[in-house]
Amino acid sequence: QAKSNGKNSYEIYTDAIIDPVNDRLQLENILDRAISDCKLFLHYQPQLDILTGKIIGIEALLRCQDLHGNSLSPAELIPIAEETGSIVPIGEWVIRTACQQNKIWQDLGLGDFPIAVNFSVKQLQNRNLIETIATILAETGLPATALEIEITESIAIKDLDLTISILQSLRQIGVKISLDDFGTGYSSLAALKYLPLDRLKIDRSFMQGLRANSIDVCIVRTIINLGHELNLNVVAEGVETVEQFECLRSINCDAVQGFLFSRPLTASELEVAIATGSYLHQNLFHVHN
Ligand code: C2E
Ligand code: MG
Ligand code: MG
Ligand code: MG
Repeated sequence: QAKSNGKNSYEIYTDAIIDPVNDRLQLENILDRAISDCKLFLHYQPQLDILTGKIIGIEALLRCQDLHGNSLSPAELIPIAEETGSIVPIGEWVIRTACQQNKIWQDLGLGDFPIAVNFSVKQLQNRNLIETIATILAETGLPATALEIEITESIAIKDLDLTISILQSLRQIGVKISLDDFGTGYSSLAALKYLPLDRLKIDRSFMQGLRANSIDVCIVRTIINLGHELNLNVVAEGVETVEQFECLRSINCDAVQGFLFSRPLTASELEVAIATGSYLHQNLFHVHN
């Protein structure tokens, strides 16, 4: 029988559903327990200006550890949390923690960059979202312009009219909007056409093949040019090699994020990285401060 055993148990239980009402409740209990036994924390990964190496943003990424110290990746955790509805309180915790942390960094004078938080579709559908975010900003004292929301095109397009109006309200108070994993969904161009955006993040699946005359370089260059035509800041994610970095610079990408510069780090590790400039890898950047 299914035992709580990492990611497999979830699928075993969903397959086994017979009585929709009772088993549904049982499933939710199991999933809720899987999450409530977990310790949640955030890791942070810098996004750097491609020319100067200056930090232009920091992405907050959810981390989860169970009682035995095993970690659960967000790719495993988020679908469970969406299934049970816990994504709304978890997401709220992520926004609050990220805002608190960025306020601390601003007060320390570490820089004036937005903190980027990933959003799930359930959060966008939550009626109280705008109010929640406004409250968190007021309570933490973080300016709205220092918060960025990352959404994917598949999320955005699910309920387009609702998404547009929510993103517009967020932007009116100054929150930045970023389109994540760009190029992997079914509706990339529609998302660009309809959504109010500040930044485009090119999905990391395009990075592997980045070299002269490859199809990936052709696609990435076209995405960058399109982003610039639409006045968007374009970030490449998942940059792992110097070759990829140099290729991105040659085709005018604005910013980079990836293991080449820094893995996602704890807040204090990131502070050390900023103090020592360790993410300014191998003198790749022309100028920095
Ligand atoms: P994402 O938003 O596209 O985040 C980037 C993912 O790429 C992160 O994985 C990051 O650790 C990883 N990454 C960064 N640089 C590199 C690189 O150079 N090479 C490779 N191979 N990977 C790199 P992570 O942290 O496992 O997160 C996976 C996804 O889970 C995220 O993708 C995001 O969609 C979701 N996620 C993470 N945190 C949250 C959260 O707080 N809320 C929600 N709703 N989703 C989250
Ligand atoms: Mg993201
Ligand atoms: Mg992404
Ligand atoms: Mg992703």
